[in-house]
Amino acid sequence: MIFSPLVEQLIRALTCLPGVGTKSAQRMALHLLERDHAGANRLAEALNDAVELVGRCKQCRIFSEMPYCSVCSNDARDRMLMCVVETPADALAIELSGTFNGLYFVLMGHLSPIDGIGPEELGMDLLKHHLQNDMLQEVILATGTTVEGEATAHFISEMVHSSGKKVSRIAHGVPMGGELEYVDSNTLNLAFNGRRLID
Ligand SMILES: [Zn+2]
Repeated sequence: MIFSPLVEQLIRALTCLPGVGTKSAQRMALHLLERDHAGANRLAEALNDAVELVGRCKQCRIFSEMPYCSVCSNDARDRMLMCVVETPADALAIELSGTFNGLYFVLMGHLSPIDGIGPEELGMDLLKHHLQNDMLQEVILATGTTVEGEATAHFISEMVHSSGKKVSRIAHGVPMGGELEYVDSNTLNLAFNGRRLID
């Protein structure tokens, strides 16, 4: 290899990013070293800060360095509605569509026994706790349309039922096996407005 160990180390480290193979990682590393030391420093600092300080919102589990995220701590949000999503990216997509003004609950995955992901890993205890809140009236399930997403929705709907609250599933103009974050705002709007109660 013509690169020194530290350059190699940087290239290898960059390949931990999704969609970044060795080629792209080389291009990024060389760009930073050749042309953008200031950018490299900012990147290093931002990475360090984020990894050290960002935790989970105590209420919805989304990434936040504050105990409660900006949505959960916003008094203008509708506390009667809670939308359950698989990932922070899904919550972001819904937020950007402007179609929902309630609270979120981010599972950070879906039920997947093969990978050892059960109810505990997805924060179901916390969700169960929220179900005891009198303000909450309806839980909207916006997990993916994959087999795992559907199984997760089913599991949660049983839980919500036994709490006596309403539970609904967003309608899917969403392609089968599609992930919410890739769905455009209009489709998300339709999906929310066309949600149906599960009984
Ligand atoms: Zn939150």
